[in-house]
Amino acid sequence: MKKDMIILMGGQGVGKGTFSKMLREQHDYNYIETGAMFRALPSDSEIAKIIARGELVPDAELFKLVESVVTDDKDMLIDGFPRTTAQAEWLVKTFADKYNVHVIYLNVPEEIMLARIQKRINAGGGRADDADAAAVRRRLDTFWNVTMPAIEWLRGAAGIKFSDVDVTGEVDDNFNRILAVLEK
Ligand code: ADP
Repeated sequence: MKKDMIILMGGQGVGKGTFSKMLREQHDYNYIETGAMFRALPSDSEIAKIIARGELVPDAELFKLVESVVTDDKDMLIDGFPRTTAQAEWLVKTFADKYNVHVIYLNVPEEIMLARIQKRINAGGGRADDADAAAVRRRLDTFWNVTMPAIEWLRGAAGIKFSDVDVTGEVDDNFNRILAVLEK
């Protein structure tokens, strides 16, 4: 039987990490969080410098990383990938035959993303790329200009399932809406 590949997409601070954690408490996924994997690299590496500027890591690096961590023995949960239309096309080309790919777009307005990032800073998360307001602005601009077209491409892509979930409300209500589209 084909395994599931659940992909959480959405802007900065929409709660991809929170909902991933909640999903993993319910089911045993092979979990991939591309941002955390890149942020764990040494601070003098080329990729760390790209991230500190609030820019995207080149697609070729992503393909290498994702290929090295995808397994076919378990359902997969992916957070942070794809973020460009080229990555989205590669995802469908590489995985749509082998997995039941389900892209879940976590949809919230930008004011809420900014408020949630501020909350993360206030809580003392200590992420260097959150503390720099210019880098946060750049990441949000990249989300709207680069990742949103990838989301729109996936919305119309053949061979995968796509759900648009409103996650502006309370965490538990949002999570129930995510579970509802997963069960459909
Ligand atoms: P955020 O979603 O708040 O930007 P992440 O922890 O998901 O934070 O990602 C941190 C950084 O890692 C991003 O700003 C980007 O530089 C890099 N990154 C993560 N995933 C990707 C991806 N799919 N494509 C390109 N760069 C990525």
